[in-house]
Amino acid sequence: MSDSELADTAVDMFRREFGGGPDSVWAAPGRVNLIGEHVDYAGGLCLPIALPHSTSAAVSPRSDGLIRLRSTEAGPWDGRLADVGPGRPDGWAAYPAGVIWALRENGLFTDDFGGVDVAFVSAVPIGAGLSSSAALECSLALALVSDADRVELAAACVRAENEVARAPTGGMDQAASLLASEGQALLLDSASDSMSQVPFDPEGLTLLVVDTRAPHRLADGAYAQRRGTVERAARRLGVGSLRELADQGRGGIDAVQSLQDDALRRRARHVISEIARVRLAVQALHSGDFAELGRLLYASHLSLSRDFEVSCAELDNAVESTLIAGALGARMTGGGFGGSAIALIPPGRVDEAVEIVRSRAEERGLTEPEFATVTASPPARRLI
Ligand code: ADP
Ligand code: MG
Repeated sequence: MSDSELADTAVDMFRREFGGGPDSVWAAPGRVNLIGEHVDYAGGLCLPIALPHSTSAAVSPRSDGLIRLRSTEAGPWDGRLADVGPGRPDGWAAYPAGVIWALRENGLFTDDFGGVDVAFVSAVPIGAGLSSSAALECSLALALVSDADRVELAAACVRAENEVARAPTGGMDQAASLLASEGQALLLDSASDSMSQVPFDPEGLTLLVVDTRAPHRLADGAYAQRRGTVERAARRLGVGSLRELADQGRGGIDAVQSLQDDALRRRARHVISEIARVRLAVQALHSGDFAELGRLLYASHLSLSRDFEVSCAELDNAVESTLIAGALGARMTGGGFGGSAIALIPPGRVDEAVEIVRSRAEERGLTEPEFATVTASPPARRLI
């Protein structure tokens, strides 16, 4: 959906739900992480881009304290700030209502909050690992306090997701949605909370996203379990986080290889090697070496699949099939056990890649995937 279609659809929805037109319309993108997976809770690095797919929020302020939330994707929610806090409300409204709560908790409202009417329209697939939740949060946060520092807006959105929606995510999604730039990937360092831009212009190559539409089996429990194992490995090795070992080069790898427990050693090896791959990917992007980037993507996939064990048949099929079609590299992206994969496809090969992924999924009895070609797109912005 173009920005003008996204704006028009949100205005139509707002009119249908609330009568008059909105005061303003805002949009915030989903994201895909190029590389650096399952390392944020180990002080690692990741490298997302903002997607061309956004969620838009048509918004008008109120003065009676009421919050009315509508979405093309879910049922209505009406309430007040007093109804919002850690763990409440339930359901999708936790994300946007949580944003309002977190903005106030974090002192970002300069005036008293008088209530708001919001209509959301999303072009980000929901629950596909492309961060529809952050797109939802960030579109509203920017609408409500558009002049605030975007780093602070991102922090409030993370707080809404962690504390109100009770989803234990790091800050990558909200940072990408609010702080990425067109044509650039955003290098995020969770050890120092710093960020920088890295050019992402794959010239004739296409970045293909395969949304496997696989059910997220085990995803939540396995996430907490992997995180626990990584933290245990760090304690066993006497460091605050595995990042400290990643920064020691060979010595860090030797320390990890010395772990006796097989699962602990393989999980830690993924973290250390993945952080190294992000650094190499940044160098490859600076020098425009996409063959090298492709190799790193596939190495990341193998590490996530074999050492970290968070892939699944659908993700492996997306990766293997795009490689058969000539991709320079491909990997699962996001937490795993479903969600999406990315592949870097040479000119003229996209249709073939799509066909091979689709037919091999069918042969294996897997859910039919969906596809999108993406570029590094603009961050959250005002549409009207
Ligand atoms: P992802 O962010 O990868 O799409 P999540 O599980 O983090 O997956 O977030 C998906 C949830 O976010 C949905 O189940 C829903 O509660 C909420 N959500 C996201 N976008 C919308 C939307 N446009 N309208 C209503 N709810 C949404
Ligand atoms: Mg999400």
